[in-house]
Amino acid sequence: MSNKYVLPELPYKYNALEPVISEEIMKLHHDKHHLAYVNGANGALEKLEKARKGEAQIDIKAVLRDFSFHFGGHVLHSIFWPNMASPGKGGGAPGGSIGDKIKQDFDGFDKFKQQFSDAAKTVEGSGWALLLYDDSTDQLVLTQIEKQNFMHLAQLPILLGIDVWEHSYYLQYKNDRAKYVDEWWKVANWDDVATRFEKAKK
Ligand code: MN
Repeated sequence: MSNKYVLPELPYKYNALEPVISEEIMKLHHDKHHLAYVNGANGALEKLEKARKGEAQIDIKAVLRDFSFHFGGHVLHSIFWPNMASPGKGGGAPGGSIGDKIKQDFDGFDKFKQQFSDAAKTVEGSGWALLLYDDSTDQLVLTQIEKQNFMHLAQLPILLGIDVWEHSYYLQYKNDRAKYVDEWWKVANWDDVATRFEKAKK
């Protein structure tokens, strides 16, 4: 078994999220950006290995920062793809236990959606809004991260995330991130969020 990170396949076709997210964006985002994070994470680990063997000298602080950045990107995008589904399959409001939990913890689905959207729209520069589950308090937690260095949150399972880096919307929405965020709900895959929630509760 290889211990390398690998680029996961998209669980749908490049054009499956249209008209919310264009085929062109999905191709670049998955095949170029996510691949670069996979390669970057593997590259950083190789540098650490070479340094241990005495085959290279490294600036360990820089290499670990590089690893955190690329690994974070890989993890987040690996969740982001299945977190979405084509309009019609995705969208709407969640049912089941995740639906109940969101209603309970956020005073209703609309208030959750509002707060999550606000978090996504106000990320300074590149980053993400995430919904996490904290089993120590049995509570859903909303968070915002800049760029993708999220190692400090890694112990909390991510249920839902939206990428608000410009590469995720600019070709289609230009600088109107708010429009992208508002449209994005049409492709939110609640089945996937529900599966992640059930797993997180165990
Ligand atoms: Mn991205």
